[in-house]
Amino acid sequence: MRVFIGLGSNLADPIEQVLTAVKALQLLPDTNVIKSSSLYASPPMGPQDQPDYTNAVVALDTTLSAHNLLDQLQEIELQHGRERNRHWGERTLDLDLLIYGDKIFNDERLQVPHPGMPLRSFVLYPLQEIAPELIIPGMGTIEQLCTQCPLDGLSRIENS
Ligand code: ATP
Ligand code: MG
Ligand code: MG
Repeated sequence: MRVFIGLGSNLADPIEQVLTAVKALQLLPDTNVIKSSSLYASPPMGPQDQPDYTNAVVALDTTLSAHNLLDQLQEIELQHGRERNRHWGERTLDLDLLIYGDKIFNDERLQVPHPGMPLRSFVLYPLQEIAPELIIPGMGTIEQLCTQCPLDGLSRIENS
């Protein structure tokens, strides 16, 4: 299954957090990293008294189930010292399962495609960079979604 993961960090050397998280994704069982976006910088969502974020999106091919993959993503977050404090607060690493093939999940653990995507420039633009022809189940084309979503201060980090 072709899968897309959104990565974000704004604590403890965010660029390094994101780069090492991509390496951790490469080591997942039954999974291959197909493509990684450039790194992007974005202002925080939610509480404004926190540092800017570093973001990226990665494409994977995996035979792991969506829920098994979520377990693995949460394990990597913990290995990166993730603590859950205030909602949308600062974090060393956030790994969100954005898209899992053409599948839709809506249970208490997993909502896929990730419902925040249409309003999040820091997800949509890196996703468009690596998958410009993508159609997102229930949401439309990545091109339409980007057209409808302002950059909101997002910038690509040069040479990343
Ligand atoms: P947001 O999901 O709005 O980006 P967040 O990433 O800060 O917020 P987390 O604290 O990382 O939220 O995760 C909270 C819960 O979200 C997790 O325990 C997980 O079960 C649930 N969840 C639901 N859908 C997804 C998904 N597509 N990817 C990752 N987690 C998800
Ligand atoms: Mg998130
Ligand atoms: Mg998350």
